[in-house]
Amino acid sequence: MNPPIPGIHHVTAIASDPQQNIDFYTGVLGLRLVKLTVNFDDPRAYHLYYGDGTGDPGTVLTFFSWPGARRGQPGAGQIGITSFAVPPDSLPYWRHRLSAAGVRLDTDLTASGDRFGQRILTFQDHDGMTLELVEVEGAAERPFWQGAEVPAPHALRGFQGVTLEEEGFEATRHFLTDVMGFAQAGEDGQVFRFTTGDDVPGSVIDVRTAPSLLPGRIAVGSVHHVAWRVPDDSAQVAWRDMLVSAGLNVTPVLDRQYFHSIYFNEPGGVIFEIATDPPGFTTDESLETLGSHLKLPPWLEPRRDLIERSLPPVRLPGVPSAR
Ligand code: ZN
Repeated sequence: MNPPIPGIHHVTAIASDPQQNIDFYTGVLGLRLVKLTVNFDDPRAYHLYYGDGTGDPGTVLTFFSWPGARRGQPGAGQIGITSFAVPPDSLPYWRHRLSAAGVRLDTDLTASGDRFGQRILTFQDHDGMTLELVEVEGAAERPFWQGAEVPAPHALRGFQGVTLEEEGFEATRHFLTDVMGFAQAGEDGQVFRFTTGDDVPGSVIDVRTAPSLLPGRIAVGSVHHVAWRVPDDSAQVAWRDMLVSAGLNVTPVLDRQYFHSIYFNEPGGVIFEIATDPPGFTTDESLETLGSHLKLPPWLEPRRDLIERSLPPVRLPGVPSAR
């Protein structure tokens, strides 16, 4: 058996305007921009990384920015909800803060309310991406970004988890438990809960099954994939070997500069990644200056002038004039 997966490494989604994205996730939600770089597969687009103060695995939400691109269509084979943990009794604060920022709160009783006995607040960002804040016992003990204006008792404490939207169920259930090693942890209506077994950020995977759900289309406002964390390269290779043996069409190991990655589809169609904890976001800039300049991997650095000219300028939090 492979080393267990402690939880989520990061979640990657697609945004339209990069400035709106930066202003919302740093200014309103109070995350730290821990890396400003480009999509390594298409360097004409920004890749923005948000997280706690250091960008610890389990706290990192990333966006490819596609200004002017069309919106995605929610549906089967996608991650429908990305959930952050907040300390208990934080939702009244967030309801007020989000309303004051003009965020449309989901008042549908099947959305905001309770799930698995936890209080949740559901809303969408400016691109239509669905987010949740979930009151989690013990979340107050977890690290958070102390440089934001959100008061410490209510600051986001990394991910609670993700919700997979699926047309079927059995193949995904089998895969999550027998292959990924997650534990089935209960059901609430049409939502089936799995956990990695560890009480860490990003340890919850909900599967919402709806047999009539049509396939979605991933574009602006959609989550592109969820990445699960492994401690090092050798654990990743062990997982890759096992996934290949299980019949999955897994990519080779790809160098993402801040982690190493493999990608594959789970049986319901959601893109999964397995990413290494090291080297992390301080590999090419100091902890103090994370996210304050456009960083490029060594293989794109020779094209920096061209890349910078093709990207829209952005204002960064706490940086007067950097790109
Ligand atoms: Zn990823």
